[in-house]
Amino acid sequence: METQTRYDAVVVGGGPAGSTAAYLLGESGYRVALLEKRAYPRDKVCGGCLSQKSVQFLDRVFHLPVPALQREGLLDSTGTGYALYIGSTRILAGDLVEPLYFTRREHYDAHLARKAAEAGAQIHEGVEVAAIDHAHHIVTTSDGERYAARVIIGADGIHSRVRRSLPESVVRPEQWHENLGWALELTIPREEARALANGDGSIRLDDDFATPHIVLAACRRGYGWVFPNREAVIVGIGGLLQKNRKDLRDHFKEFLKTIGFSAFADRRPVGFLVPLGNYIPSPAHEGTVLIGDAGGFASPILGEGIFYAHRTAELAAHAIDRHLTTAAPLAETYTALLQRRLIPELQAETALRDFLYGCLDAPVQIPLGAFMKATGARVIDAVQGSRSFLGFRRDDNLHSAVW
Ligand SMILES: Cc1cc2nc3c(=O)[nH]c(=O)nc-3n(C[C@H](O)[C@H](O)[C@H](O)COP(=O)(O)OP(=O)(O)OC[C@H]3O[C@@H](n4cnc5c(N)ncnc54)[C@H](O)[C@@H]3O)c2cc1C
Repeated sequence: METQTRYDAVVVGGGPAGSTAAYLLGESGYRVALLEKRAYPRDKVCGGCLSQKSVQFLDRVFHLPVPALQREGLLDSTGTGYALYIGSTRILAGDLVEPLYFTRREHYDAHLARKAAEAGAQIHEGVEVAAIDHAHHIVTTSDGERYAARVIIGADGIHSRVRRSLPESVVRPEQWHENLGWALELTIPREEARALANGDGSIRLDDDFATPHIVLAACRRGYGWVFPNREAVIVGIGGLLQKNRKDLRDHFKEFLKTIGFSAFADRRPVGFLVPLGNYIPSPAHEGTVLIGDAGGFASPILGEGIFYAHRTAELAAHAIDRHLTTAAPLAETYTALLQRRLIPELQAETALRDFLYGCLDAPVQIPLGAFMKATGARVIDAVQGSRSFLGFRRDDNLHSAVW
């Protein structure tokens, strides 16, 4: 089939990353097509936790402050407290200064795609990209349709076809695999959780399952979580793939037992790959850029990726705008923005993660509990985005400045 239209930008994938890029470029007046292989509303395996830095992004960029998110039904539940464990030992618990919110991805992603459409982007659902011609800036769909664009944005998630079409020198496969994570997650309806939880695990959950729990060392180089959701309790476990390849399922069953959920040990959790620090430092080649999971952007400790999907999309949209208006080289401009605004944070968080897990793996016991008690509040601030992982300094501008 012949190329029909030439766009300024074609976005491959309509998760939080793709919709943000399409929205921002659409708002700037560019001709944008977003190609999403599934139809909205579509689900995505995810705990749906929105830290404060995500919530602030939604306010600043999409003009969706918390009351608007609530009105639109995008906030499914709110976590005002938290509990942090290492194994079965409770290290920290209490009230959060600012809450964590929980969303359901089928609603969240559909809403953001709608916002992109309102900003002028063309949303093509049920359209799967099958091939990318980087030299001519053309993507071809599985139906043989061709879309030509001045830039191509790979926002197609962890299994990104766009990423796999780039040269190895950009992706560096060994580095990619070194910090690739793997997660298992089970969604348990609340009535079942109430009826079948036996409360005899070594970690006692609150009666209403309202408190987000993080359990470090629930598997090797990873953690377990229990997140509230309006109709369900979300239980998951995830860690570095290369350390957990053989026995993550066993660790998951053990984790269920630890939290008094052994009645669910026979349920089949959903498995998914997740970035855990395997970001590509220069995720661009000719007229193509990678954003979100496609480029490996997520928190190296927690695998929290929604914020990083939004933020890399914002930085990429800024670089694309400069490229299209001033002919600034795209790859260099986007890489410079990432190096300035995101990668130092990810490096500092990776160093903290390696320190924490190094302590847990050490042959002699290191008083990690004492360290976490002393620094835990600052680590939470850094996760929420009000402090930097670099020396835990306060920085109001940390996640909002672009240039
Ligand atoms: C078990 C688990 C729990 C998680 N919990 C959290 C959490 O609580 N909080 C948090 O912030 N993050 C969490 N994450 C991470 C988060 O889900 C991701 O980081 C986030 O979804 C990344 O957004 P994205 O837009 O880059 O990719 P995605 O959300 O994966 O979107 C990619 C889109 O591209 C489409 N696509 C793929 N291939 C093609 C193609 N060839 N053509 C067209 N379209 C295509 C897909 O259908 C999809 O819609 C979790 C991840 C896992 C696995």
